[in-house]
Amino acid sequence: MPSKLAAGNWKMHGLKSDLSELPAIADTATATSIPALICPPATLIAAAATPGLHIGGQNCHIANQGAHTGDVSAQMLCDAGASHVIVGHSERRSDHNETDKDIEAQAKAAWSAGLIAIVCIGETLAQREAGNCLDVLAKQLRNSVPDDATAANTVVAYEPVWAIGTGRVAEIEQITEVHDALRVDLCVRFNDGKDFTLLYGGSVKAANASEIFSCANVNGALVGGASLKAADFCPIIEALA
Ligand code: PEP
Repeated sequence: MPSKLAAGNWKMHGLKSDLSELPAIADTATATSIPALICPPATLIAAAATPGLHIGGQNCHIANQGAHTGDVSAQMLCDAGASHVIVGHSERRSDHNETDKDIEAQAKAAWSAGLIAIVCIGETLAQREAGNCLDVLAKQLRNSVPDDATAANTVVAYEPVWAIGTGRVAEIEQITEVHDALRVDLCVRFNDGKDFTLLYGGSVKAANASEIFSCANVNGALVGGASLKAADFCPIIEALA
C-alpha cells in the first residue's frame, strides 16, 4: 500500500523569517497523521528542522563533494537534516538542461546518502497536444527512475509542465489516465510497484485538492505556490487525510 505524502516545494522562495510557517504545518501533519514534507531552499534546510515535519532538498549533484561551484550534494543535504530530495523537477530540466540520465544518477546519489528521491516527470503542452503524453511519460519514467528503485527509496511525481505555476490544473480524467498508466508501468517493472507513492503536482490548492486526491492512484501532491503559507498548505494536508 503506498504511503501518502503532502510535499511542498518552496523553489527559490524563503528567508529565515518564513520558517515561522512550519510549526503550523507540522501540527496539521501530526493531527492528521499525514506525512508532510517541505523542501525549502538549501540555505534554510538546517534551520527548518521542525518536529513532525520532513525536510527535503530541491536537487542534488551526483558527487558527494568536489569542484562543482554552486552545487549541493545529497550527502550535504542529509547532513543538514534532509530526508528527501526532489530530482528532475521540470525547472531543473529546462533551466539546467538536466536529462533523464542525469536524474537517474541523482536518484542513485540520493539513495547513497540515505535520502528518498522524489523523481519528477511531466509532459509539455506541445507533447500533450501532439497526443504523445503517455509515451513521453513512460520514457521519462523508464529512464529517470533507476532499475533498483523501491517504494521505500523512491517517490514518483507527475507534474505536467503546463500546469506548474500556471493556475491551470490538469483535468481529473487526465490525472487519472496518467496515474493509472504510471501504476501499471511501475507494477510491470518493480516487484513492489503497487507500493510506490505517486504524487500529482501542478497548481494544487485547497480548492482542488480533495478532487485530485479522490483519484485511485494519486497518493499525495507536490505543491509549489500553495506550500509557502501554512494557511494554504494545511488544508491540502487535511484533504489527503
Ligand atoms: C512545483 O513546483 O512542483 C509545482 C507543482 O508548483 P505549483 O504548485 O505552484 O504549480
